[in-house]
Amino acid sequence: MSAIRVGLDVGGTKIEALALSEDDTILGRTRIPTGWGDDAVIAAALAAIDALAEEAGFAVADVISIGIGIPGLVDAANGRVLHAVNLGVEELDLAAAIRARIPVPVAVENDVKAAAVGAGSLRGDAHSMAYLNLGTGVAAGILIEGSLWRGARGTAGEVGHLSVDPAGRVCGCGQRGCIETFCGGGAVMKAWGRGGELPIRDIFDLAETGDPLAAELREGIAFGAASAVRALVLSADVETVVIGGGVTALGDRLLGDLVGRLRRENAASPFIASLRLDERIELLPAGSPAASLGAALVGAALLHGEEPHTGRVVVASDGAQGNSAEPSTVEPATAEPATAAPATAVPATAEPATAKPATPLIESEGALHG
Ligand SMILES: [Zn+2]
Repeated sequence: MSAIRVGLDVGGTKIEALALSEDDTILGRTRIPTGWGDDAVIAAALAAIDALAEEAGFAVADVISIGIGIPGLVDAANGRVLHAVNLGVEELDLAAAIRARIPVPVAVENDVKAAAVGAGSLRGDAHSMAYLNLGTGVAAGILIEGSLWRGARGTAGEVGHLSVDPAGRVCGCGQRGCIETFCGGGAVMKAWGRGGELPIRDIFDLAETGDPLAAELREGIAFGAASAVRALVLSADVETVVIGGGVTALGDRLLGDLVGRLRRENAASPFIASLRLDERIELLPAGSPAASLGAALVGAALLHGEEPHTGRVVVASDGAQGNSAEPSTVEPATAEPATAAPATAVPATAEPATAKPATPLIESEGALHG
């Protein structure tokens, strides 16, 4: 085999590596634990490539490009990671460090932006699309005319820090009532404060038994996600918003809440109703390779000096699934009482979702960042 393009999705606990053949077939996927700190992250990235090569049956010498999606601030032009707190990395010339061992073009991109490229490629239509990641944090990647749109300073799509409730909970960014405080896994877990192995599932379950805090948080998740979808459509008029990340692990239950929320907002505003937001959302399928695939495409784009291509990628029947999806294992956050209710809380009535077909996503922690 030759001309292998490798993509790495570096998460807080795992790195997923994916190999793409010359004809855009996914040859294999594998996962290994992430390291903590500069040297450990570099070593883990290289180890992931070694493990992938062994599993998919190619030589590392056959690799022609590497793309790395990583949480945090990324200087994509220079392949530098500037601030990845979940990985213990403050400032790292990641592309240069990998090139020193594997001398091929290496691209580094924010993980959510890379996942947007992968999601667009998997859909086969990235003309006008956003990928909204509801992970520990909340962010989106926007594809316009099939290319990733970073904006003037790389903050395009950072809708998680759009404040939608001036009286809401304080966000890690210092503002109040950011979208992320409603539907980011980290903020929801902190507000929940009861720990548990699957806190988001607990919140959904207990909301149905009348637990007031669970009901408030569950409503807040739909409110925050709906606000993010509305912001993306109003600002970029993307045709489709694909939603993924650990918070979407509940699949149809989350989608039902979200569609219900969007339809209630439609009822209140003919203008918003005309946008048909409830028909423009999709959930990323369970176990989707979007993040690592997108990273591979971002790396491959360097070979042509182009923006990442977002054409259709053929998914091979063998090895394409890699390691199977794992249950969400969001870290329990330290207890802290919720300080405010959503300003526009509406009783959760979980209407059946009929907008788009969706597969329940049981996302790994690897996607719970950003
Ligand atoms: Zn914020």
